[in-house]
Formats: sequence, C-alpha cells, structure tokens
Amino acid sequence: MATRRRTLLKVIVLGDSGVGKTSLMNQYVHNKFSLQYKATIGADFVTKELQIGDKLVTLQVVVVVVIWDTAGQERFQSLGAAFYRGADCCALVYDLNVSKSFDSLDNWHEEFLKQANPSDPKTFPFIVLGNKVDIDGGRSRVVSEKKAADWCASNGNIPYFETSAKEDYNVDEAFLTIAKTALANE
Ligand code: GDP
Ligand code: MG
Repeated sequence: MATRRRTLLKVIVLGDSGVGKTSLMNQYVHNKFSLQYKATIGADFVTKELQIGDKLVTLQVVVVVVIWDTAGQERFQSLGAAFYRGADCCALVYDLNVSKSFDSLDNWHEEFLKQANPSDPKTFPFIVLGNKVDIDGGRSRVVSEKKAADWCASNGNIPYFETSAKEDYNVDEAFLTIAKTALANE
C-alpha cells in the first residue's frame, strides 16, 4: 500500500492592519466574510487540508498581530523568532486602495526575513496579495498592477495576486499558490 505523506506547511500572513489579512484567511478556510472590523488580538490561526497531487497538505495560516501604540501609530509587535520558526511561506498583503499599505511591503518583507532568518533569504517563498480589488469596481485603486508587479519582480520574482476577500475573488487561487510554493521549498 502506498503511504500517503502528510505535510504541514506554515504560512505567515503579514501586512498593515485593515488590509484584509483575517478576512482573506476566513474566506479561504470558512467561506465567510464580514464587513465588521475586529482588530486581531493575539494571532489568528487556522488550518486547512488540501490535496496537491498525491500529497495531503495541512496548510497552517497564521495572521500576525498588529498593535497600536499610544500615539495611535500602528506598530509591529514582535513575537520573537519562535513565532516564525518553521515558516514555509510568507504572504504579504496590502490594500490596493491604500498607498501606504503598499509602501509598507518593504518593511514587512524585511521584518519577516529578520525574524524568520531563513537559510536562504533569496529563495524563500513569498507571495504578494493586493486585496480589496472589488471596491468601487476598481476605480478607487491607487496602486497600479504594474507598480505591484515591478515590486514583486525586483524582490525575487514574487508571485502576485489581486484578490477580494469580500467577493471571494482569487482567494483559493492565491492560497493554492502559497501551498505549492511552500511545498516546493520543503
Ligand atoms: P486585517 O487587519 O488585515 O486582518 O484586516 P481585516 O481582515 O480585519 O479587514 C479589515 C476591514 O476590511 C474589515 O472591515 C473587512 O470587512 C474589510 N475587508 C477585508 N477584505 C476586504 C475586501 O476584499 N473587500 C472589501 N470591500 N472589504 C474588505
Ligand atoms: Mg486581522
């Protein structure tokens, strides 16, 4: 009898608060979306099983905590290296209607590499998600697809998806790519 290998893949989801990290995760795993905003306290954490080829994969999705300091500034709460240990992929999320959230990608990218300290930072699998593509039918977007694609190209050809957690657009596709790139890096 063929033995089926069960693989656990850990994905860290990073990005400014409000970009839709928790919503993307909930849409992907529970097929649910809510317009109510609840800031994540502690880490959001879910798992989902999926079949990739002959492999049964358990995708563990971890959304990182963001806290606000007293000045109302968003600040990354470093949970230390233990939190990132064993990460197989990092998803960087921004809101393509909010310029600042795109500008933050550099910081999140750096922060991840600093904390996770992967053995080969140049080949570690990242993915970028430009979320909320549904808003105003795309008329309020401020980050062009080209600008995002250029950033991804200059940071090691990172795969890029435009998504809507609200309308369940490209969410499965994005997470499948996450799982596949993570699997390839195993
Ligand atoms: P997080 O802080 O990155 O985890 O962001 P949340 O997932 O909590 O989402 C922040 C707010 O944006 C919530 O009010 C969500 O309902 C909303 N939101 C998230 N994704 C989308 C999306 O794709 N489209 C729209 N229109 N709203 C979204
Ligand atoms: Mg959240």
